[in-house]
Amino acid sequence: MKKIAILGSTGSIGTQTLDIVREQGDIEVTAIAAGSNIKLLEAQMREFKPALVCVYDESAAGQLKINTADLDSRIVTGMDGLLEVAVQPESEILVTAIVGMLGIRPTIAAIKAGKKIALANKETLVTAGHIIMPLAKECGVPILPVDSEHSAIFQSLQGAGENRIEKILLTASGGPFRGRRAEELKEIQVEDALKHPNWSMGRKITIDSSTLVNKGLEVMEAKWLFGVELSQIQVVVHPQSVIHSAVEYEDGAVIAQLGTPDMRLPIQYALYYPERRPLSGDKLDLFALGRLTFEKPDMETFRGLSLAYEAMRRGGNIPTAFNAANERAVALFLERRISYPAITEIIEACMGEATFVAEPTVDEILETEALAYEHIRKVFE
Ligand code: NAD
Ligand code: MG
Repeated sequence: MKKIAILGSTGSIGTQTLDIVREQGDIEVTAIAAGSNIKLLEAQMREFKPALVCVYDESAAGQLKINTADLDSRIVTGMDGLLEVAVQPESEILVTAIVGMLGIRPTIAAIKAGKKIALANKETLVTAGHIIMPLAKECGVPILPVDSEHSAIFQSLQGAGENRIEKILLTASGGPFRGRRAEELKEIQVEDALKHPNWSMGRKITIDSSTLVNKGLEVMEAKWLFGVELSQIQVVVHPQSVIHSAVEYEDGAVIAQLGTPDMRLPIQYALYYPERRPLSGDKLDLFALGRLTFEKPDMETFRGLSLAYEAMRRGGNIPTAFNAANERAVALFLERRISYPAITEIIEACMGEATFVAEPTVDEILETEALAYEHIRKVFE
């Protein structure tokens, strides 16, 4: 039996991870963590019998304890609880499927405890990649990408040996507003932005996909995961989301991974790497598709991507300012407290406000986050 722990078990990636556990039948779930959805957590506890469960929200944890008094699972709360789940002694792999920078400390703790990381939580690498990647190397722990593009790149690198990557072709659907002009973005409502053309995902990443901020975060994620320069990563808009990304080698050969848009494949690949297992669901039908198309990203209209490039070029804690501002701005947009274009305005303002730190420690990363939140509160809320 393979033993795994999941941070964010009630979310889009978390529940699909549990779909795989259910389908494969040879994985034991030793620990799970979620924010406050105790109804689903209780169902997961009854089905998967994890030894340890974290509910971040303390009052929700109290209720869950009452509702599951007949079960043996130990229930913990808060950041201490997340840390406990991350290092739960029996687990071999930690699936990081929570949203946002909250994942930094648990991911670091899990690496130090020797857990393999199946990484979905890209915000952690974007803000702390300079800490996490060397630490994982030092501890001999693999970081297995779950993000579909990064899994595709990882799959395209199998058998590459010592051969250098010339270029990474990072594909993007372009989101629901592809082809729109800047002035048309003003009218966009929460409902419009939550409609992704190809993928069904959590709310935050769906908004990020519509602003192309998600692609910006993914460029940074790719840089850390595969150790390439920014200039080696090319974003390619590919509206059908069939080519999940590709690697170009020095001889010009391009190796890509294709498939239907189904997150269970990259999740399963990370859990069983290097083994491939059968997976239920539709397979790719190229005749039904007919053709695949490609375009350049519109970085003038979708400033989320150009600001991400600027954040990467400046480096240090500026990607943290970019990410923290986006996390808060998306939350405000989802609460209908700011307009859609204000998301990128807030990111730009917070990047301008940040005091540069070249090699930020975890505390300095969290300080940069707090300062961005403070600036947003004063100016935009
Ligand atoms: P989601 O919103 O569907 O789920 C988030 C999970 O995190 C939930 O289980 C929630 O309970 C938990 N959570 C939230 N706050 C918490 C807290 N304070 N303490 C503990 N748990 C907390 O999000 P998602 O779409 O599954 O995305 C998760 C991560 O995976 C994100 O970083 C996202 O960018 C990345 N990702 C997602 C997809 C996708 O298809 N959904 C694809 C690629 C990458
Ligand atoms: Mg992705």
